[in-house]
Formats: sequence, structure tokens, C-alpha cells
Amino acid sequence: MKIDLHTHTYYSDGVLSPAELVQRAVEKQVDVLALTDHDTLMGIDEAILAAKSHAIRIIPGVEISCLWREQTIHMIGLNVDMSHQPLREKLDGVMHSRQNRAEQIAKKLTKFGIPGVEEGVFRQVKGVPGRLHFARYLVSKGYATAPGKAFKQFLARGKAGYFKSEWMSLADAATLIRDAGGLPVIAHPRRYDLTLKKTTTMLEEFKAAGGEGIEVATTNQNKSDQLLMSRLAIQLDLAMSIGSDFHEPCAYNELGKASFLIPVEGRLISDML
Ligand code: AMP
Ligand code: MN
Ligand code: MN
Ligand code: MN
Repeated sequence: MKIDLHTHTYYSDGVLSPAELVQRAVEKQVDVLALTDHDTLMGIDEAILAAKSHAIRIIPGVEISCLWREQTIHMIGLNVDMSHQPLREKLDGVMHSRQNRAEQIAKKLTKFGIPGVEEGVFRQVKGVPGRLHFARYLVSKGYATAPGKAFKQFLARGKAGYFKSEWMSLADAATLIRDAGGLPVIAHPRRYDLTLKKTTTMLEEFKAAGGEGIEVATTNQNKSDQLLMSRLAIQLDLAMSIGSDFHEPCAYNELGKASFLIPVEGRLISDML
């Protein structure tokens, strides 16, 4: 079984429509695909519709931005009930604060001397605006050579286009996902600015708040980090998840591409779906 439990569409900072994403997943022989856009459920109905004529199973999901001790953490909610009112209302709130942040970033970059930011960025946005939209604009206008560079030079804390995000707490995100019938999973656990000790503490608090899983396999993560996270999952009795974090067709990432060696003692989150 090919499983991919972390993907994006153009309703957040991906570039494909939900139908295009599903089509690509079918071509890549993915059996189970979770659509997990940042802070929105907008693409899920379209993905389910597009999957009707195929054997692929779509898991309704979301990637919630939340905060643990000043550190932004991304929490995946798998199999959430899309009609759950508190979830919808909370995500609407995040949408507003993302829109406000995007306006502030646009203002700051304009003041810094970069023309056309507002039109250039908001033209791309079909749902939730994110910093990757700004990064793509900066690259397209030659201000940076790659999105990663645009983050470093313009969008990271302390840079000209930085504006503080307002996210809910880690515990609130876990509760929200659970209340909506979903499974909370910590996305890309090695991508945060946290030591292994702090990561362990964060995961312990996540577990205590109702957390269920860790993404141990994600694209471009080396084998030793994967092994480390698998061991941590077993130690903390969390299930293991797998996701490409696919945003757009490119050389270094593909749907269903992340894979992992399953330690015998480990549990898979896909068995709980
Ligand atoms: P936001 O949630 O709007 O603050 O933006 C975070 C998103 O930007 C992540 O989900 C990634 O898709 C993208 N991102 C963050 N850091 C980088 C980076 N260094 N290079 C490329 N994309 C990045
Ligand atoms: Mn993203
Ligand atoms: Mn993420
Ligand atoms: Mn993601």
C-alpha cells in the first residue's frame, strides 16, 4: 500500500487544484491520500469528488499552525469531520489572522522598496495566504534565487518582511482536532528550531493533550532522523505517520515518495484511519 498523509493544493500554498492533486496521486499509484492544506478544509469536497472514479481513498485532513513555547509547530489532523462547527469557526479565525498578516507583510515589503507585492501575491491566493506566496513572488521578480532563500532573506524573524503570526496553542490544536473526530499528528518533527530534548518535551505535552502520532517519514529527511523519530514514537507510544508534504511538481518531492522502514514495535497511524 502506498500511503501519503500530508499534501497541499492551491487552497493553501500548493499549486495544484484538488482534482489535479488526486489525478497525480492516481498516476503515482497512491492508495491512500490525505489532503492537509494549511488551516483550511476548502479543497476536500473537490478532492473527494475527483476520487470518485478511482480506487484511491481520500482522507479529509488539515495542517494546523500552532504554537508551543514561541515555536510554530504544524499539527496534522487526519480524518476530521468537516462539518464540525467549532473546527470550521476556529479555522475561519485563522484565515482572518493569516489575511491580516499577509497585508502587513505586503506593507512591510512595499515600504522596503519592493514594488507590486500586493497584486503579485494576492493574485496567486485562492484560499489561505501564506509566506510561500510571498517567497514565490520574490523569486519571480529576481529578489531571491529560490523560495528557501526568500524566506531567509526577507520572511524570517528579524527580516524586512517579517510579521508575527497569531496561532492557537499546541494543546488547543490537539483538542480541536480530537473534538472534530480526527487524529492529531505532529508534522515534520525535525524541521523545528528545537533540540532533541525540547522536541521530546513538546511531544510528551502533545501526547498528554490527546496527540496520536508523529510524521516519522517525510521527504528529504535523512534515515538517521527517521530512525530517531521512530524510536521516539515507540518510546512515547505515538503512532507513526508518513507524508510527502507535497506542494508542487518539482525534482525533489513527489506524492507517495516518502517511505520508511517500520520498526517491529511501532504502530502505524494509517492502521487507525
Ligand atoms: P506560513 O505557514 O505562511 O508561515 O508558511 C510556512 C510554509 O512556508 C511552510 O508550510 C512551507 O510550505 C513554506 N516554507 C517554510 N520555510 C521554507 C523554506 N525555507 N523554503 C521553502 N518553503 C518554506
Ligand atoms: Mn506549506
Ligand atoms: Mn508544515
Ligand atoms: Mn505541509
